[in-house]
Amino acid sequence: MQSMLAPLDASRRRRVVAAAAAAVAFAFLLVVLPGPTRNPGALGVAGAVGVLVVVLAASWRCSPVLARVGTPAAFIALVALLIDSGGGTSSGYGGLFLLPMLWLASLGSRQELVLGFLFVLLARALPLRIVGEPRYPSSAWRAAIVLGAVAVIACVTIQELLRHARVRGGQLAERAVALEQARAQLEEQNRQLRDLDRLKTEFLTLVSHQLRTPLTSIKGYLELLTGEDGEPLTPTQHRFLTTADRNADRLTTLVNDLLFLMQVDAGAIELHLAPTDIGELLHSTLASAAPAAAAKGVLLAQEGAGPVLALCDRGRIVQVVEGLLANAIKFTPAGGRIAVHGLRVVGGVEIAVSDTGIGIPPDEQEQLFDRFFRASSATSGVFPGTGLGLAIAQSIAEAHESRIVVESTPGRGSTFRLLLPAA
Ligand code: ADP
Repeated sequence: MQSMLAPLDASRRRRVVAAAAAAVAFAFLLVVLPGPTRNPGALGVAGAVGVLVVVLAASWRCSPVLARVGTPAAFIALVALLIDSGGGTSSGYGGLFLLPMLWLASLGSRQELVLGFLFVLLARALPLRIVGEPRYPSSAWRAAIVLGAVAVIACVTIQELLRHARVRGGQLAERAVALEQARAQLEEQNRQLRDLDRLKTEFLTLVSHQLRTPLTSIKGYLELLTGEDGEPLTPTQHRFLTTADRNADRLTTLVNDLLFLMQVDAGAIELHLAPTDIGELLHSTLASAAPAAAAKGVLLAQEGAGPVLALCDRGRIVQVVEGLLANAIKFTPAGGRIAVHGLRVVGGVEIAVSDTGIGIPPDEQEQLFDRFFRASSATSGVFPGTGLGLAIAQSIAEAHESRIVVESTPGRGSTFRLLLPAA
């Protein structure tokens, strides 16, 4: 049991000495109150014992056991002397016996507490037995038993509560250590992840740059072969070279998309904001997309007329609309319709691209703007793509402090909307 008692640090030791001194001072303060006969001799001895109480409490550093048990024992003797000097049972000092009991309940072991009870019992019983009437009438036995019982219950309860608190404290300390270890582990994992992320970015940048140069050269030679100045080609050769050219275009787009996203990650997207006529912007973008739409057999239409001015980076917004239009054309079957509008609405200028295409399953719409995500409706069909277009469009929207939102019904079509500040 003893070993379970935690050693006291310097500040608690100081508090313990202060508590002992305060208890002695309190006991002597009571002497000045009017009361029955005083025995100056016993009072003198009590004074010396009072000093001893404080000295014993102060000895904690050299001898914790002596301080823990000796201090309350001396205080019990002090109370007995004060009772005697104050005229016996009627002196009113009896309640002071609780103080050393509380001391042992909070600082001592269970055995030390029992020892304390025995001291108190002795200090109460001896005068009753030896000195007796009239200063120690037999009726005082009852008071002694009541005080003893109350002290036992209170002190044991206190000791149990403290024991629980210490156990919980220990558990909490263990938890804190475990949490600290987990935190350190997470920090290390975080560092490793950051390193990996940096490596990934460096790798992608390197690969993208390395791909760009040969791609430009491939494209150049393909153009020479298929161009008007090239040698005459057989229809099969022409078909092969056109396929190669188309795939070189796709690879160029992918490399450009990856490089663009790397710029986004590096926070290097610069916007040149200026009042922009969205009606005109949509008109010219629609014109560029017209051949692809015609080839697919879908109708392109612009809704709303007249200039609508928004504050944005024209080049970037063209990039967004081109991407949305390309998707709309790609995912709309022949005979379908694509409509765009740029409208002044509450809070700004809304750009919307709607189609009557295959739509997107509702449970996948939230991930649509994640990099490399392709909805099951796209992957289950024959739609080529990388899943980067919408991520790029969204990062451009975010750079404009906006967001692209989507509404879509599978089999019926989709609408992508973007709100820009009005100019
Ligand atoms: P990609 O078109 O290269 O697959 P995007 O990032 O542009 O990649 O689009 C991600 C996914 O969102 C597409 O694969 C497709 O599933 C879905 N999607 C985008 N636009 C449409 C649309 N207009 N209609 C139906 N699905 C679309």
